[in-house]
Amino acid sequence: MSRKVIIAGNWKMNKTAAEGCELVNALKEKLGCSCYDNVDIVVCPPFTTLGAVVEAAKGSRIKVGAQNVHWAESGAFTGEISAEMLKTSGVEYVIIGHSERRQYFGETDATVNSRLKAALNAGLKPIVCIGELLEEREGGLTEKVLTTQIRGGFDGITGEQMANIVVAYEPVWAIGTGKTATPDIAQETHAHIRKELEAMFGAEVAGKVRIQYGGSMKADNARELVAQADIDGGLIGGAALKADSFAALIDEAMGK
Ligand code: PEP
Repeated sequence: MSRKVIIAGNWKMNKTAAEGCELVNALKEKLGCSCYDNVDIVVCPPFTTLGAVVEAAKGSRIKVGAQNVHWAESGAFTGEISAEMLKTSGVEYVIIGHSERRQYFGETDATVNSRLKAALNAGLKPIVCIGELLEEREGGLTEKVLTTQIRGGFDGITGEQMANIVVAYEPVWAIGTGKTATPDIAQETHAHIRKELEAMFGAEVAGKVRIQYGGSMKADNARELVAQADIDGGLIGGAALKADSFAALIDEAMGK
């Protein structure tokens, strides 16, 4: 089963609108060649930078994603952004359930599930993050934790919807720490995720789901990670903040 590689940059709480446009313009120059046709390239700026980046990315192969979405259509949810607001702003993807949201903002598998349904209803393409803490990995609980996150996060999702959802496996101990899961460990864990998806949605759907690795991925390790059978790209934090490092990572991931 061949799946199109997807590399997404999560800018987190970095970049003003002007800085975001500068980065996208630099990326457009570096990634202009049709040799990048077989990779999906996504940037996920903060909400205030989205509009400017959507404009800057127009007509290029760079797609734009948000970092979160609320589950309600509208209403008294001060500080929140709806799926329709994102969609009508030209946003295509949305990250849901990043470990920083789970860790600092009370995100649970139930809220991930609600956000996911709202995103799908609005026609957004979700990138759903899952991953274990260091103590869970050390305690031999990785598979159990991931299974719980998958069953809760994807509850009530149809096979047709699932086939178009991107899963980002991000071991929390590898995010922003410089520690990367070895390609073998990452592959073994991705294979478990696909097996769980197969149990829920069947082999055909599970075979279509793109599973990204995230956690200190950079140009140095991207090639070996993305070469693994069940690793279909990356969700990138630090290395996505500069055009040189992000473009170099994409080249390595594509085996260039
Ligand atoms: C992330 O925040 O999703 C991430 C993977 O960050 P980093 O690449 O900096 O570890």
